[in-house]
Amino acid sequence: MGVYNHEAFADHEQVVFCHDEKTGLKAIIAVHSTVLGPAAGGCRMWAYRDDDAALCDVLRLSKGMSYKNAMAGLNLGGGKAVIIGDAKTDKSEELFRCYGRFVDSLGGKYITAEDVGISVSDMEVVSQETPHVAGLNSGLAASGDPSPFTARGTFNGIRAAVKHRLGTESVRGLKVAVQGLGHVGWHLCKYLHEAGAVLFVADINDEVVQHAVKEFGATAVPCDEILFASVDVIAPCALGAVLNETSIPLLKTSIVAGAANNQLAKTSDGELLRTWDILYAPDYVINAGGIINVAAEIEGSYDRKWVDTKVAAIYDVLMDIFERADKEKGSTSDIADLIAQEKIDSAVKAVTKGKQDQIVA
Ligand code: NAD
Repeated sequence: MGVYNHEAFADHEQVVFCHDEKTGLKAIIAVHSTVLGPAAGGCRMWAYRDDDAALCDVLRLSKGMSYKNAMAGLNLGGGKAVIIGDAKTDKSEELFRCYGRFVDSLGGKYITAEDVGISVSDMEVVSQETPHVAGLNSGLAASGDPSPFTARGTFNGIRAAVKHRLGTESVRGLKVAVQGLGHVGWHLCKYLHEAGAVLFVADINDEVVQHAVKEFGATAVPCDEILFASVDVIAPCALGAVLNETSIPLLKTSIVAGAANNQLAKTSDGELLRTWDILYAPDYVINAGGIINVAAEIEGSYDRKWVDTKVAAIYDVLMDIFERADKEKGSTSDIADLIAQEKIDSAVKAVTKGKQDQIVA
């Protein structure tokens, strides 16, 4: 399959194939849109089965970043990068420096950061070659680990879903099942526990599960059962594609609201959730807390108050989506895509009008 006719191409502005024989770097940088600002999105390192799988992943993720950044009200477009390789065995300082030079060659059109397989220290190496990198631990505006902010935003999103579906302001006494107790899932459990929710948890790492049982009074659930627990809210915080035509009919919850990226296996699974009367908080809206924190670093002067206000606003953004989905009898995921695209389109119109006004003047 080619690039322009690729099913995930989605009108990308620019796709850069990077190769360096000396370091073994093979990477793809996808810039979906710079309409709202420089394209920001993390870099993923993954041993893809073939080049098409890498291309497909980077194109989908990059468009997702345009929508995520638009919905969070950030002055950022959407982009993403993938490095093809095994994060356990293929990393080297030279490889990341080389990647940094490719990012730099785009002159700030794309701003890179961490994603799956990439650590803050890898990005510190990238930053030796380019200033167009965020999510660092050092520097004037360093924003550090985005995960607690992602968790806070997800907690706000759960509150919005609970309010909309169950009509209650608080999660106190509600049963919430959290799949994955990693960087985000753990912090989310902390917020939920403090707010009085009753927790059910699962992770492939038994040690962290036992820790949650002790720390939060959580009930441990086997990994293959957590999604199907009889609870008020399911919060996927581990893998993508957990919501699909096989799993959705088996869910025993009325709300799915979690931080994992790409929770829907197919776009049409959003409609399937609606058919089963399950309220779904679109992933890229509820999990935007981390990119909001990174955006504060990109702005150049980290402002914690600005971050907190934006992360709190995830509640309102989701409420609007839920209400519009009810009114238009559409799935929440389709409505979110529509609103995000509307925001980008209206920015394109504003830019075009500005240029026309300049010509007339
Ligand atoms: P992480 O790698 O720290 O945590 C993932 C956890 O899921 C790990 O503890 C892992 O053991 C567990 N896990 C893996 N497979 C599992 C399974 N089958 N069942 C149960 N648990 C399983 O990742 P993270 O940073 O916490 O991110 C979690 C999700 O949220 C990912 O999908 C990520 O893309 C998304 N996300 C994260 C951020 C962020 O700020 N970190 C921002 C936006 C979206």
